[in-house]
Amino acid sequence: MIMENVVKDKYERPILSLRITITNRCNENCIYCHHDGMVSSKDEMTPDEIHTICKVAKKIGVRKIRLSGGDPLVRKDIVEIVEKIASLDFKDISLTTNGVLLGKYAKDLKDAGLDRINVSLDTLNPETYEFVTKRNYLDKAKEGILKAVEVGLYPVKINMVIMKDINQDEVKDMFEFCKKNNMVLQLIELIESENCDDDKFNAEYHYSLDELENKLADIADDVRERKFMQGRKKYYINDGEIEIVRPVDNSSFCASCSRLRVTPDGKIKPCLLRNDNLVELISHIRNGESEEKLEEIFIKGINKREPFNQ
Ligand code: SAM
Repeated sequence: MIMENVVKDKYERPILSLRITITNRCNENCIYCHHDGMVSSKDEMTPDEIHTICKVAKKIGVRKIRLSGGDPLVRKDIVEIVEKIASLDFKDISLTTNGVLLGKYAKDLKDAGLDRINVSLDTLNPETYEFVTKRNYLDKAKEGILKAVEVGLYPVKINMVIMKDINQDEVKDMFEFCKKNNMVLQLIELIESENCDDDKFNAEYHYSLDELENKLADIADDVRERKFMQGRKKYYINDGEIEIVRPVDNSSFCASCSRLRVTPDGKIKPCLLRNDNLVELISHIRNGESEEKLEEIFIKGINKREPFNQ
């Protein structure tokens, strides 16, 4: 593939996407949450600051923007943020949410220029939902998901983290729910998280996706691999689609990583898995530095990229 105007890091990895965590605030409190690898902070960037960051990212060749959190929809200015990013004409703008506020925002987000959405939904069982999220918003989340489909956000992907003896038996029901509503199901392998203070958490809930994946391979009509994103496998079954998201703590994840991140308080984060090499960005924007200077700061962040797992 010919890639013009794309900056590569020193390991020849092109920087194609930017994941911006626009808030640490969330309206749920999932037992396993890794908070997108972010250090807690109360400072948040304004829509104009986020717009400037995306403008500079576009200049260095970034094609895709994903907004995450916390939950991005707890920000009251989320539609304005999407609108400002969309004015820059990216190839793809997406967002990851728990869906609780999606009923309220889906149409406005679509109209503002959002292309697609990932919604975290680990279960269709109200009790399990409350156990995992510590909230009883299952109906609201389902309503939000259906609204996203209705307004034409496409594809809607459902992120389902698989936990041993919690929801491993629900994959079939979730797949049917997704298929019925023309959505893609992503099965995510649980990874260890600092939020889970109990050392035994991983041992108790971790469920390797190997077994599930073998079953999918047996019944799939077709299997494809994504070029980036760690060569994730996609299984096509009876007109439905399941994607497998493996843990990030391995060398193949690092080798195919084409993503740079920005923290809620405006620092460039070169690697999901570490916080000791963040690059200050927001103070330069607030001091009115030129776009050329901001580009240099981006390049500094890219130069700090090292594969976490060799
Ligand atoms: N609040 C939003 C949401 O619920 O989707 C966005 C933030 S959440 C940190 C982003 C994604 O990370 C969700 O799909 C969630 O399921 C996933 N995630 C969080 N902690 C995880 C863990 N320990 N293992 C695997 N996936 C995790």
